[in-house]
Amino acid sequence: MIAHRLAGLFLFLQAAAAASGPASPAERELMETITANTLRGHLSFLASDLLEGRDTPSRGLDLAAEYIASQFRRFGLEPAGDQGTYFQNAPYVRITQPMDGFRLRIEAADGKSWESTGAKLIALTSSPVNLNSLEVVKVTISSPTSPLPPAGQVRGKAVLLYVAQGMSPVAARNRALTALEPALLVTYGVFPPAPFRLRPAGSSTPPPPPTVITSDADFSKLLDTLPEGVTTARLSAQISGPREEPLQLRNVIARLPGSDPALRHQAILLTAHYDHVGVSPRGDGDRIHNGANDDASGVTSVLALAEALAARKLRPKRTLLFMTYFGEEKGLLGSRYYAAHPVHPLRDTVANLNFEHMGRTDDNEGPRRHQLTGTGLAYTTLGEALIAAGSATGVTTWTHPRNSDDFFGRSDNQALADAGIPAITVCVAWIFPDYHRPSDHWDKIDLPNMEHVVRAAAVAVTRIANSDTTPRWVESHPKVQPYLEAFKKLHATD
Ligand SMILES: [Zn+2]
Repeated sequence: MIAHRLAGLFLFLQAAAAASGPASPAERELMETITANTLRGHLSFLASDLLEGRDTPSRGLDLAAEYIASQFRRFGLEPAGDQGTYFQNAPYVRITQPMDGFRLRIEAADGKSWESTGAKLIALTSSPVNLNSLEVVKVTISSPTSPLPPAGQVRGKAVLLYVAQGMSPVAARNRALTALEPALLVTYGVFPPAPFRLRPAGSSTPPPPPTVITSDADFSKLLDTLPEGVTTARLSAQISGPREEPLQLRNVIARLPGSDPALRHQAILLTAHYDHVGVSPRGDGDRIHNGANDDASGVTSVLALAEALAARKLRPKRTLLFMTYFGEEKGLLGSRYYAAHPVHPLRDTVANLNFEHMGRTDDNEGPRRHQLTGTGLAYTTLGEALIAAGSATGVTTWTHPRNSDDFFGRSDNQALADAGIPAITVCVAWIFPDYHRPSDHWDKIDLPNMEHVVRAAAVAVTRIANSDTTPRWVESHPKVQPYLEAFKKLHATD
């Protein structure tokens, strides 16, 4: 299968390459303003231990935001955030769960029982929980389609959820919670230490019922003794309500207005996420997740493109928006916030190039020097532009047989694609040895290669920004239908 697919791909590459021709003198000049030293400068600060892995929220994240804004200021770009600043403020709520006074007890009719005062578990509530001798229903989910008891039998009762091996615990939990509306759901499982949760302030989504996840094997043993469905067991629980603190999270955004009166109303978003996962709560030695390649390298690419394009005497015809997001690692928070609160009309936003993993060439599947790849390269005409710019600058742009599809939803392009905007993520390596490890350090970045591929990206951006045609979804591609629908809806009144 793989074989003929590659043949098709090379044909596609040759056609696109043939269409582009070598880089023009102006493009060569632009490329030379992007240097390995510039990249090193940004990377070494953004991925330094001082920023402690840029978790959302954290002091390190705020330091990174100030740094990025200061660079936009240095390049002379227009502030595109709130009140004439470079910051788009997103009101969020930080939720923590106090565990003082926590008590949970399950008593079976045969005298067996399980009790916890908070050890080996996490609790997720939206208000205080006070239950006394509540009926218990045992529910097993072994597949995404396994039948659930009728809601009437369960609503307002305590549900003990057993999730079979191989079934995603999160998916099972969510399904049980929404379908059954229990008074409390208790389940067995390992859980990432999440000292807090984040929620958009003022979000109207009704909170899920309270949930307890325990890794206590004794709970699992008791669960095994209970029959499926309504049981004779009883549950009592006292859990405090959550503590909620308002906070502001920030996207950092700057504008380079277009030079062409007929096209400057159209904008191209160049993005990356400036957050990472912070400091590991456990472990010896280095616990700071510096996130040099994920995604300080993407932020650095956006900064290098901004500096190079802002310095041009002749600015690109269309407007360029340079933006770095918070909270990608927490679920694409910053990009979803932007798509819901755009600073430029979405219908006049003609493309989004999102940058991830631009620095490392030691992909787990093999070396990736002088190459660019990405998600959804065949989904939109942006892929062609990248291929053409690549062949004009000595960079091979290729589509991964699986990842280009599978990773499409794993980064910030997704939020803009859902709004109908042709949006893809560009990268060099997909997964690299230090991915999401404290060892993702900036001195492992292949700077000469990064200089080369960011230069190619600069040529691609310039060509897209000056093109007579606007980027489009490839209507014949089987994977783009939902985005095409959103695009048509966005442009229904054009
Ligand atoms: Zn990332």
